Amino acid sequence: MDTPHQQFASDNYAGTCPEALEWFLKANGSGHEPAYGDDRWTERSSNMFRELFGIDCDVYYVFNGTAANSLALASLCQSYHSVICSPVAHVETDECGGPEFFSNGSKLLVAEGHSEAAQRGKLTPQAVETLVTKRNDIHYPRPKVVSITQATELGTVYSVDEVRALSWAAQKHQLKLHMDGARFANAVAHLECTPADITWKAGVDVLCFGGTKNGLPVGEAVIFFDKALSQDFAWRVKQAGQLASKMRFISAPWVGMLENDVWLRNARHANQMAQRLYSGMRAIPGVQVRHAPQANGVFAQLSALTIAALRDRGWKFYEFIAGGGCRFMCAWDTSEATVDALLSDLRKVSA
Ligand SMILES: *Cc1c(COP(=O)(O)O)cnc(C)c1O
Repeated sequence: MDTPHQQFASDNYAGTCPEALEWFLKANGSGHEPAYGDDRWTERSSNMFRELFGIDCDVYYVFNGTAANSLALASLCQSYHSVICSPVAHVETDECGGPEFFSNGSKLLVAEGHSEAAQRGKLTPQAVETLVTKRNDIHYPRPKVVSITQATELGTVYSVDEVRALSWAAQKHQLKLHMDGARFANAVAHLECTPADITWKAGVDVLCFGGTKNGLPVGEAVIFFDKALSQDFAWRVKQAGQLASKMRFISAPWVGMLENDVWLRNARHANQMAQRLYSGMRAIPGVQVRHAPQANGVFAQLSALTIAALRDRGWKFYEFIAGGGCRFMCAWDTSEATVDALLSDLRKVSA
């Protein structure tokens, strides 16, 4: 049998994991079912989230991460408010102004990017403090939310203490804390903490829990730990065109992911493959790996010649960091053989 074709461009290149697919088919096999989330799988997966987080949270399902983040942030802000985030935050760089659009104009305030933490994709309490205290006059959009990405866009992970410190910095100024968890599973797998430890117990108000990159066909969960904040959120989702009428096809695969902690197993595997790739790359002369991966991505500086030669050999990966930084993402199904094949080619072309 042919080995499946795999790439390192993004973890969303991967397909659906068997458990999610099995539940997708189960939801399809029972005939007609109530629409718009009134089905038993939506109830079941939502209860599974409540059990997983150990709190009676409000759970909503949307099609993708851009909508999850944009609508979550919009629900926390008035149009004259602002959201503090890192310069590499997905909400800032990769959502086409979605958060601003869905909030009717809430501005993103980008923190400085020079500190060591910032170089690793993280926001710091100091950066939050600086932005909040810089201005407090009526001409400046009033800070209302701190948004962090867990795991970060640069493959690092905030520790529980780091999230707590950010939450204190936010609370000091009555700001809410939003977590973009497109790779939340990879962060939990790295930290070996409970999902509660790194979210509501550390002060997170709203979590966008990513499923797509971790093995779902489609669909992210927006989880409100403070139910007072989710008032009217269902209408916001509907108006944005994000209410799936056949919601069972998003929620049933989530049941497959949450049952037996498949979400965690998938993420652990992806993280392990990133470690394997990192170890191999570090041993190759001419390849400069930026920092040890904590989640499922490896970031390396490669020469233009090496990049071109890898592409000639059919490898796909993103180069979106200034100065020749290349990103290699591992997915729930990335095989050791694929990692080793990339390393083997990299050894040849960087020689
Ligand atoms: C992939 C990703 C998202 C979601 O992107 P969509 O393409 O809208 O699903 C959000 N945040 C981060 C950090 C991501 O990597």
